[in-house]
Amino acid sequence: MRLIVLGPPGAGKGTQAQRLVERHSIPQLSTGEMLRAAVANGTEIGREAKAIMDRGELVPDDVINHMVSDRIDQEDCRRGFILDGFPRTVAQAEALTAMMEQKGFKLDAVIELKVDPSALIERMEKRVADTLAAGGMVRSDDNPDTFARRLDEYRQKTEPLLNYYRRREELVEIDGMQGMDAVARDIASALTKVVSD
Ligand code: ADP
Repeated sequence: MRLIVLGPPGAGKGTQAQRLVERHSIPQLSTGEMLRAAVANGTEIGREAKAIMDRGELVPDDVINHMVSDRIDQEDCRRGFILDGFPRTVAQAEALTAMMEQKGFKLDAVIELKVDPSALIERMEKRVADTLAAGGMVRSDDNPDTFARRLDEYRQKTEPLLNYYRRREELVEIDGMQGMDAVARDIASALTKVVSD
């Protein structure tokens, strides 16, 4: 099964992607996680991405497209994967469509997590508080100013993707305002309708 989880920062993409990993035993490909690993390891991509991410802006499409294409070619993606945080621009969506065609893969569904904008900042603040309480490291882009910029980038560059996938009849809209379990249940039931295998 090949899925995209789409939604604004703080919508719960990572949480739901993780549930899908457990349910379907396919890997989660989070471009945000890949970039954070690249930053931590001091790779060339990491050095290029760090300042951009800290400003809450998007890393250039070609960097991301190559990173995803290479990752999809790995053995563990043969049976499927869940894309979390990619695509984020129309150019990335077009690159993904071409990539999938070239590799002979079919996309099964694009899951949109719909969450009221007013709830998103609160969720980010809760994530920061929970991380600190657990003694963890807070993401350097989880602060009010950068978060506002990330939301802005989402509205300008990522929201147009909803229409791109709606036109292709691949979009599945899910109410992301519910609790995590209810959201996971709605996704599972929506997928039984669109996915055959
Ligand atoms: P969130 O969805 O909570 O905003 P992510 O972990 O998905 O966070 O992404 C963190 C940052 O990594 C983004 O703000 C952006 O700078 C960069 N990034 C992640 N995925 C992409 C992508 N597909 N295209 C461009 N930049 C990306």
